[in-house]
Amino acid sequence: MSSSSNRQCAACKQLRRRCTSNCIFLPYFPPTDPQRFSFVHRIFGASNVAKMLQKVEEHERGDVAESLYYEAHCRIQDPVYGCVGIITLLHEQIYDFQCQLAKVEAEIQVVKAQQLGSKNAWVK
Ligand SMILES: [Zn+2]
Repeated sequence: MSSSSNRQCAACKQLRRRCTSNCIFLPYFPPTDPQRFSFVHRIFGASNVAKMLQKVEEHERGDVAESLYYEAHCRIQDPVYGCVGIITLLHEQIYDFQCQLAKVEAEIQVVKAQQLGSKNAWVK
């Protein structure tokens, strides 16, 4: 009995149903990480998660489960913006770094121009 309950995925365990060897959740929601399924179930609902996993090729299901988990985790942490909040923050950081880079590149050009100017003055 304990061996069969060990094979039960986190989804079937939480939904209190029997987990079969062809359970759609089994490879992606292991019993060792119950929070992973708990998050996606809370945000998307178990049947929607199952439908989304079934819609794609088997080799893509790991990525689907991972992105659903990421989105659910973000949505729980930030109910207003979810992962869009993180994307916006990263866009702002990219913009800030681009501005810093442009400033440093301009400073380099100024220093190069000054060096060139002083070199030319010395040659004359
Ligand atoms: Zn299962």
